[in-house]
Amino acid sequence: MTLLLTTAAPKVVLITGASSGIGEATARRLAAAGHHLVLGARRTDRLAVLAKEIETDTETDTGTNTGVAFPHVLDVTDPDSMRSFVSAAHDRYGRIDVLVNNAGVMPLARLDALKVDEWDRMIDVNLRGVLHGIAAVLPVMRAQGAGHIVNIASVSGLRVDPTAAVYSATKHAVRALSEGLRQESRELRVTVISPGLTRSELTETISDQDTKDAVAGQMGIAIPAAAIGEAIHYAISQPTDVDVNEIVVRPTAQG
Ligand code: NDP
Repeated sequence: MTLLLTTAAPKVVLITGASSGIGEATARRLAAAGHHLVLGARRTDRLAVLAKEIETDTETDTGTNTGVAFPHVLDVTDPDSMRSFVSAAHDRYGRIDVLVNNAGVMPLARLDALKVDEWDRMIDVNLRGVLHGIAAVLPVMRAQGAGHIVNIASVSGLRVDPTAAVYSATKHAVRALSEGLRQESRELRVTVISPGLTRSELTETISDQDTKDAVAGQMGIAIPAAAIGEAIHYAISQPTDVDVNEIVVRPTAQG
């Protein structure tokens, strides 16, 4: 796939969970816009392939390859891993313009299935992971006097459905802490992106077979992950005094 470079104001953008789905699509979109990316996830083999593709397939108007993306191992549940991810980016570029807190898991199940380990996992990745990201970049962005944190929530952060109680709780929490961060910040921009059904690997984290089958039945209307990457690109492309706080992107056919 060939991507066309469309703008010339490169930002240093860190993306968590860049090894698949929305994170990967966002990386491709932002590379095409000329931004410099640092890609984090646990599956570094996937990140390496993606970074290579971005380097070889991203074109400027003149046809020169300029895609810049570096893979870096990251487990968002580990604050030390997050600090090392952010430090590596800062050491390389001397600044951090945007952090996209995208990594997430969604092992849906009814509460009475008592999948307590999965509840903990969702809290660790979807909520603590976002907090670890904020903690790691906030001192850098405060020192810069500028920065942009993009948190990926969900329509499950706006509503609650059976089997999604804990997942929804984590996504409601991400919206709440994003609003708190926004109110505390006069120099930083804070954006919450809330996707609806989107094609990715997310449903593979569902271990409850009945729930997995039910979700699979709904995925026919899912939109491509690139649609979310486009929303992120829009948010970070605004002038620095314009803070796009919330974007909901869902399939037209989603109830
Ligand atoms: P994918 O499963 O395709 O991607 C999830 C990403 O999160 C992977 O890159 C995975 O990388 C990463 N990840 C998971 N655990 C960790 C961890 N401990 N440390 C670092 N990275 C981790 O799903 P999506 O692209 O759909 O999900 C991206 C975000 O979008 C999530 O926050 C999800 O909740 C949200 N979302 C998705 C929707 C959808 O319909 N797809 C709808 C609403 C919101 P690796 O395993 O290599 O570490």
